[in-house]
Amino acid sequence: MVFTAPSDLSGGLYFLNGKRTTVEAAETFDVIEPRIGKVVAKCPKATAEIVDEYVKVASAAQPGWGETTALDRGKILHKVADLIREHAEEIAVWEVKTNGKPIYEARCDIASSADTFDFFGGIATAVLQGDSLELPGGPSQRIAYTRREPYGVIGCIGAWNYPFQTCVWKVAPALAAGNAVVYKPSPFAPASPVLLGEILTAAGVPEGVYNVIQGEQEAGIALCEHQLVAKMSFTGSVASGEAVQRQAATKNVKPVTLELGGKSELIIFDDSNVKSAVAAAMLANFLNQGQVCTNATRVFVQRGILASFTEAIVQEANEKLKVGDPLLEDTRVGANINEGHLQRIMGYVESAKQEGGVVLRGGVRVHPEGVEGGAYFEPAIITGLTDEAKAVREEIFGAVMLILPFETEEEVVARANNTTYGLAAGVFSGNLARGHRVAARLQAGTVFINTYNDTEVNVPFGGFKNSGHGRENCVDTLRAHTQTKAIYVNVQDTTEHCF
Ligand code: NAD
Repeated sequence: MVFTAPSDLSGGLYFLNGKRTTVEAAETFDVIEPRIGKVVAKCPKATAEIVDEYVKVASAAQPGWGETTALDRGKILHKVADLIREHAEEIAVWEVKTNGKPIYEARCDIASSADTFDFFGGIATAVLQGDSLELPGGPSQRIAYTRREPYGVIGCIGAWNYPFQTCVWKVAPALAAGNAVVYKPSPFAPASPVLLGEILTAAGVPEGVYNVIQGEQEAGIALCEHQLVAKMSFTGSVASGEAVQRQAATKNVKPVTLELGGKSELIIFDDSNVKSAVAAAMLANFLNQGQVCTNATRVFVQRGILASFTEAIVQEANEKLKVGDPLLEDTRVGANINEGHLQRIMGYVESAKQEGGVVLRGGVRVHPEGVEGGAYFEPAIITGLTDEAKAVREEIFGAVMLILPFETEEEVVARANNTTYGLAAGVFSGNLARGHRVAARLQAGTVFINTYNDTEVNVPFGGFKNSGHGRENCVDTLRAHTQTKAIYVNVQDTTEHCF
């Protein structure tokens, strides 16, 4: 089968038995194209009965897929990677329409998604092996060995900020390990997983192994609670993650991977290269309109370079952050996901002003020519707040950088760790010994030294504290999509026993 990117959403936003489809349901949600802020489709919301049908299809298809060799599954996943690369531009345009991010960023997401399939397809055979274990008496009496077996059906739920990539991060290891998937995207960005489904089918993933349902909380709850779903993999806010963990233990006990929100910090010591620190602070705050879970909105700057850093970052932002139609090549800041989210971000700017914050640039709504209906925002840089301010404590999930001065290493580590989140952190210093020392003390799943927001498929990604548990990318993630079975083998006839 050949993959052709669809020209619109009319083929349906569900995916079942290897094909795009739709369902009959009494309730629908609006599919909004963030770039233009218009409703482009109505999508039926999956009821518990629809979720049940999709999970049963996945459950029926999984054993056949799970019994193929990891090598054969890997070959198919490499084909998926090839197809993603071949159609990268079409997929990137879809991603812009789905999410509102600038096309140059969408291209990076799609390229790294192809790498994710190559990585998990490539390591599957080597990683999915068991151990042979020697027991008392030696191998002439008894041995044990282990097998890494798939769970069965994995229920996946995604957020809206990296629609294609989030789906790929969940689906590639799940399929490599021999599981089937039922994926529920965010209703704010529902199209990308269906596109991925068509690519999987074209590459040879058997019918029923990958399926997509749509809807809001109710569909997610039905997926978490379904008894044929053996594991949940979730990306979203802390509040939803807490609910998912509870729901996944209501009817049977499922392991849960939670990739949740953050309130990360970037600590810039006064022996840093200010130019590099400015570049990293831009990456830490303004990618994807600031809608990045690892974003370091708390930029702690040591007093000695506070003035020079502040002047340089405002200048850099003024020069580089062109807000506009995300389909244009030179746009660096596209549309926020929707009007409600923009109002939430602007609410944080208002609260910052009320709590003594000084807005050094941005913080206002803009209406770029040709795409006036979208939720566009001039990225903000704010100073003058204390750690108690609402904007400093809560996840904003928007392009709002907060500059917070500090004096000493001891002080800044304590202030940085004084949050319930623990997703990511950054340290800038000309002294690498200090970089390593501070990195070891920061309570975060990823720490960047003299860089920020790097993401590589072989490096673990996930949170400490309320930012979640479990990891994505990396070798361990593939193992986490399997369950270990131990098998004892009696080599000799047993004549002695304890009875
Ligand atoms: P959200 O929690 O509102 O929604 C995420 C998904 O969960 C959606 O598909 C939603 O429909 C579903 N959902 C909501 N309640 C549910 C429930 N009770 N049971 C099952 N599913 C439910 O989050 P969002 O607004 O889509 O995304 C933004 C959040 O996601 C931010 O907090 C951000 O930091 C976080 N995020 C984390 C990562 C990460 O890897 N750590 C990546 C991207 C986004």
